[in-house]
Amino acid sequence: MARPDYYAILGVTRGADETEIKRAYRRVALESHPDRFPDDEQAHERFREASEAYEVLSDPLKRARYDSSRLLPEGLDLTRPPNVATARELFANMFGDVFGSRRNDRRKGRDIRYTLSVELADAVLGSSHTISFEGRGACESCEGSGTEPEGREAIECPNCAGGGEVKTGGLFSRRSKCGRCDGLGMIQQDPCVTCRGRGVIRRERSFDVRLPPGTDSGTMKVLRGQGEPGRFGGDAGHLRITINVKPHPWLRRDGQNLLAKLPVPFTRAALGGKIPVPTIEGWVDMEVPAGVQSGAKLRLRGKGVPDGRGGRGDQFVELQVETPKQLEGTRTKELLLELDRTMQREPVLPEHRELLAALAAHEGRKHQN
Ligand SMILES: [Zn+2]
Ligand SMILES: [Zn+2]
Repeated sequence: MARPDYYAILGVTRGADETEIKRAYRRVALESHPDRFPDDEQAHERFREASEAYEVLSDPLKRARYDSSRLLPEGLDLTRPPNVATARELFANMFGDVFGSRRNDRRKGRDIRYTLSVELADAVLGSSHTISFEGRGACESCEGSGTEPEGREAIECPNCAGGGEVKTGGLFSRRSKCGRCDGLGMIQQDPCVTCRGRGVIRRERSFDVRLPPGTDSGTMKVLRGQGEPGRFGGDAGHLRITINVKPHPWLRRDGQNLLAKLPVPFTRAALGGKIPVPTIEGWVDMEVPAGVQSGAKLRLRGKGVPDGRGGRGDQFVELQVETPKQLEGTRTKELLLELDRTMQREPVLPEHRELLAALAAHEGRKHQN
């Protein structure tokens, strides 16, 4: 494998000295830095290559071996080449946070998370809500600037020259957050008395939230820029609202459909007719066919969940036939005894036909004896 031409990558002559090489590396790296071209793979590779070239050429020993190995047909493996991440670290440790990305991160406002609990009908049919909570918002006295009204403007932090970072340590120096400005790169000369220069204060915050018809539990709504305010021009965070749908006492959602279990007296199940059924929008009358069995599922078309495109799911009603209990001394008991003596029994399910015929024969014999 041919060894890359590190001199060409950095655009320096073979006799370039340490200062020239460092200057050349800074230039090439800046022209291809991932912070500037986050989606450009070619730039990432140029950036990585420049860092590799610098690692070799900046070290006299590695450079000497590189220079001699270039004369051989196959190069010696001098170094483990840096990847993009380690190249970034190398660059940041040498030249600092030139794009201010970490400083800008610190200026950003944080996201706020909120859970909004709603009734099933509000989620299925759509609704509007006002939510309010105690949270960090822009200070009203200074309009979020952090500067006392009529006071002197904020200035770049003299400790870090606005970069938000300082070099610490000796030989193995690192860049770390500036303590004077807390990494923000700016300091207040006349901080606002109300918010102590932060521009941000805890206060009552309230927002209107609209839920479209068909909203499901677990849906996340993001109100962009409505989180905690940023500082010194940083972006505000977002307000992230999770929708939690409370369980309904008798309706259950299943995708686009709704499901209800409904008790029906056995007399009504036998006779059929209209029975009142609860839907998400109130009671409707549903026709039950005569002789309906327990467990039957009836469909109410278009009474389910709106799909947001003009369509709508169905509601299913599962019937549970009720057998009466506690009849002692009632008229119902007399009627049931009468019915029990006179009712013709017919097999409801085909698989019971033979069994019922055998039973009838058994009862017939009993009466004869
Ligand atoms: Zn203030
Ligand atoms: Zn500072």
